Amino acid sequence: MSTDFLELRNISKFYGNIIALTGVTTTVNPGEVTCVLGDNGAGKSTFIKILAGVHQHDEGELVLEGSKVRFAHPREALAAGIATVYQDLAMVPLMSVWRNFFLGQEPKTGVWPFRQIDIDKAKMIAKEEMAKMGIDIRDTEQSVGTLSGGERQSVAIARASYFGARVLILDEPTSALGVKQSGVVLRRIVEARDQGLAVIFITHNPNHAYPVGDRFVILQRGQSLGNWAKDELSQGELTQLMAGGAELEELQHELAGADSNGG
Ligand code: ADP
Repeated sequence: MSTDFLELRNISKFYGNIIALTGVTTTVNPGEVTCVLGDNGAGKSTFIKILAGVHQHDEGELVLEGSKVRFAHPREALAAGIATVYQDLAMVPLMSVWRNFFLGQEPKTGVWPFRQIDIDKAKMIAKEEMAKMGIDIRDTEQSVGTLSGGERQSVAIARASYFGARVLILDEPTSALGVKQSGVVLRRIVEARDQGLAVIFITHNPNHAYPVGDRFVILQRGQSLGNWAKDELSQGELTQLMAGGAELEELQHELAGADSNGG
């Protein structure tokens, strides 16, 4: 009997003849960070889409709390507590932090037909929830557009956690950020983990993944190179596996270009 919260067993996905993902096996547990590493075209988005209910796997099993599942719609994944924070964050830059935090799910006050958004409560919840994640937003009335990239990611993470996420998928949250801002996001990942969330951290950067990760899956051109617990893999090995993939990829592109004269 499995004791893992969420398990991927030999998951594969095909788009027609294209093998987007094959043989992906890993586990995702509360209070842990599962890192999924890979370069462009490795299958990271496909991996996310299967867990987020955007696409369904063609082979293998997805097992949630001991039962096989298949999410036919993003709503089903969300209902199961799997929330995805996409790179574009689905935020409205000109709107305030608290508005972005709730986005249509604001607490209400008053009796119909006089019900209206309870602004004070909404602001208070947004501030409190972000404080729990270690984020100090001076004024939740400020627009999201004035926040740094790391802070924006932080708002999205706090929001997902508040709305009941048990599994939090972070789609390359550090890829567009500098060193300092990446540090902000990595700290959020650790805080989400410490709050008991199961975090899936998608990245191509082994230096970001290793310090926060408990488990590592490396994808390369849709293939899983393996699934390691932290004590089975050193940072050097992780970096080498990623670098090896990247170099090979580059070489293959170069050779393909040379062969077909750039076509
Ligand atoms: P990543 O997110 O790591 O860049 P993807 O999951 O987007 O990788 O892509 C994995 C492979 O599947 C790539 O070869 C890509 O071209 C292919 N692929 C992704 N989505 C589709 C699709 N909708 N139709 C056909 N092929 C796709």
